[in-house]
Amino acid sequence: MGSVRVTAAAVVTGDGAIHRPGAVEFDDGIITAVGPADSGDGLLMPGLVNCHCHSPMAVLRGAAEDVPLDTFLREVVWPREAQLNDDDVYWAMTLACAEMLRAGVTTSCEMYVHEEPIARAVVDAGSRCLLTPGVMDVPGWLSWRERLEQVLRFLDSASYERVALGIAAHSAYTLPVEALDAIAAAALERDLLVHIHIAETREEWTGDQSVPSLLAERRFLDARVLAAHSVHLSDSDLDLYEQHDVAVAHCPQSNAKLAAGIARLQDMLDRGLRVGLGTDGPATNNDLDLWDEVRLAPLLAKLQTGDAGAVPAAKALELATAGGGAALGLPVGVLEPGRAADLVKLRIDDPVFVPVLEDRDLVSHLVWSSSSRLVEDVWVGGTQVVARGACTSVDVERASHEVQERAQRLTRIG
Ligand SMILES: [Zn+2]
Repeated sequence: MGSVRVTAAAVVTGDGAIHRPGAVEFDDGIITAVGPADSGDGLLMPGLVNCHCHSPMAVLRGAAEDVPLDTFLREVVWPREAQLNDDDVYWAMTLACAEMLRAGVTTSCEMYVHEEPIARAVVDAGSRCLLTPGVMDVPGWLSWRERLEQVLRFLDSASYERVALGIAAHSAYTLPVEALDAIAAAALERDLLVHIHIAETREEWTGDQSVPSLLAERRFLDARVLAAHSVHLSDSDLDLYEQHDVAVAHCPQSNAKLAAGIARLQDMLDRGLRVGLGTDGPATNNDLDLWDEVRLAPLLAKLQTGDAGAVPAAKALELATAGGGAALGLPVGVLEPGRAADLVKLRIDDPVFVPVLEDRDLVSHLVWSSSSRLVEDVWVGGTQVVARGACTSVDVERASHEVQERAQRLTRIG
């Protein structure tokens, strides 16, 4: 596609460097140069990485409010999800991609069923995703053995542009231990990341054993694990995460809304764990705008530790970019040569970006006073997908209409 150069009044690379003004060059979807420039407008930064979501739940947005996780899943979500068809998921994912891209979220890690239409929607929307088809064993669904077989058939033949593949074990409370064993074995054999919900609620224990200790005992943690939530962890659970290099998708807003608790973010960072941020599904958040998490994660960490110095702005921004890339094992989240050209340009001719007296003010403003409303242009793999604040790669009106109609049908079944 030829080399493209984008200039900006400031380039925040995501690995600590800031160029004022600066430029990013890319060719064939990959960044080739990052450095100072003579002039430019706006602020360029890496696309945000949403490390844990079930984006097609956009069709269930608002379906269950003000209830705890167990009620949410058993009474509302699972009965409706069992009725979803491929087209429902395709359109919900398409609308979700438009929502994320518009907010500057260029990569999402998806745990869901109907993996084929999800991959197609991501390709068509021009987004990027780590797709981890989910296996669980609950009434009304395929048995875990049938589902695992289906997932492995998909993984062994799937090939989609900008879609990396992993596998998901929904959780230790929706799967028997033999299923956890089989999923971990499949992941190890294929060198796939395994995505799983761990310790989201206080109730999530198996007998008197914590889930991390069960998973370590079953050698599940020998695989490349991405643990969503990880709210209720003891020191010894954190030791296990450290020993097994378990990555964490921290989802503070979903955890707050379901009154699940506050994960020990500062303790995780002190141990050097790879941590990214996630929105979780749009039925528990209720959006896919990761800027909320960028602000909420440090706020909660400060409250939890009683230390105003916990998780400073630069660290919060890193969690949403470079940290997310590291947690997913994808070459995204930093503007540097060799990484994917996933870029976001924000308007900074806005009151919340005044004043800027030194470089670090830009980072403070990004975290504490900015938001997705300032996202102006977005590129994924070097292709522009948002221009002047509008998603240009998705027919948003059509997708909205489709999701509206399909949500109405699902309420009649549910
Ligand atoms: Zn989740």
